[in-house]
Amino acid sequence: MKVTRMLSILFLGAGLLHGSAQAFELSFPSPLRNNSHTYYAHLPGMLPGGHSFFEGFIRSLAVWMDASGNIRLSAIDEEREACSDNSIGSTQNGVNTATFSDSFCGDDSYFAGPTVADAVTQTSWNPFAILESDIIFNEGRKPLFETVEHYFHHVAVHEIGHTLGFGHSAVRSAIMVSRLSHGRRDPVLSIDDRCALAMRYGNPADCPILLGEGLATNGRDTNARFVGGATTDRGWSFHQQFEPSDRITIYGTVVKDRSHARRPGNLHVVASTEDGVLFARHADGNFHPLADVESIPSAGELKIDLYAQDLVIIGTRHFGREPSVGPLIGTVYQLVGQTVYFYLAYSLDEEPGVYYYGSEPIRVSWSDD
Ligand SMILES: [Zn+2]
Repeated sequence: MKVTRMLSILFLGAGLLHGSAQAFELSFPSPLRNNSHTYYAHLPGMLPGGHSFFEGFIRSLAVWMDASGNIRLSAIDEEREACSDNSIGSTQNGVNTATFSDSFCGDDSYFAGPTVADAVTQTSWNPFAILESDIIFNEGRKPLFETVEHYFHHVAVHEIGHTLGFGHSAVRSAIMVSRLSHGRRDPVLSIDDRCALAMRYGNPADCPILLGEGLATNGRDTNARFVGGATTDRGWSFHQQFEPSDRITIYGTVVKDRSHARRPGNLHVVASTEDGVLFARHADGNFHPLADVESIPSAGELKIDLYAQDLVIIGTRHFGREPSVGPLIGTVYQLVGQTVYFYLAYSLDEEPGVYYYGSEPIRVSWSDD
């Protein structure tokens, strides 16, 4: 059986790019086996608050479990080999671990040199289940983990998210954002992280920004789902009503039909005014009038290795993703007193002219008083 591996590397606050990162993303269609996972966590040392790293790791597991109710995560305080004997940079030995090390199973490229990662997680899976995950925390960062409050907890919650099958998020409030700003506060899951949990381990309806039912323009049933919303506070909250001067960012995520894994295609966004005038988002990030609804321009490429893929529909510049088009401001675009409806969709190269889309749009309204 084909087993796939993925590396997720976390750089904190260093301003570095990594991965093919993008609202929430799901790396692969497989969940945890039996929705449960046990780590052998050998994490000697103490956190700033007087608890051990092991206790801290348990607390990090609980952040996800408390938010889901459908997953069971546990850790055993026991030293086990993290690395495979077979090759450098491989953790695939059948044991889930969480450890400190100064190299990633003999590969020194992540924890040394100009790009220093706080942790690297390697996950392997087959089409049915996540088989193994290993989190290796950078031993060289231990002095920071030991002294900076919340730092280790942030990194651990993020890395555990990868072991649940979550990729990176474009939503700045998400714990799964590719560039975490650590410390200062206790990590909490954002709406985006909760939607990732709902899509993978819960009920899609538990995601508060689910865009209705998934539909196909050819009338076929689909289990595709669409998520998205407009925010002025980095995704901590999503709204429909805005003040004319609000700086609005709109995030969306396409969760592909399960039969569409590994099929190439495109993302699409269509905006409609109240009068039914249509615009399509182009790959350059801008919206242009839509002439033909049977042939919608691409807003970006559908990535075959992602099960769920996100898109910043409109928003301020963010890190290494789509082009920046700036926030949507009602006064700037003369939209005060108006409502604009944004529909999120995708298509497959093998089915030209067929669009999979969310039945409900993202609504953005500006009051005129
Ligand atoms: Zn990461």
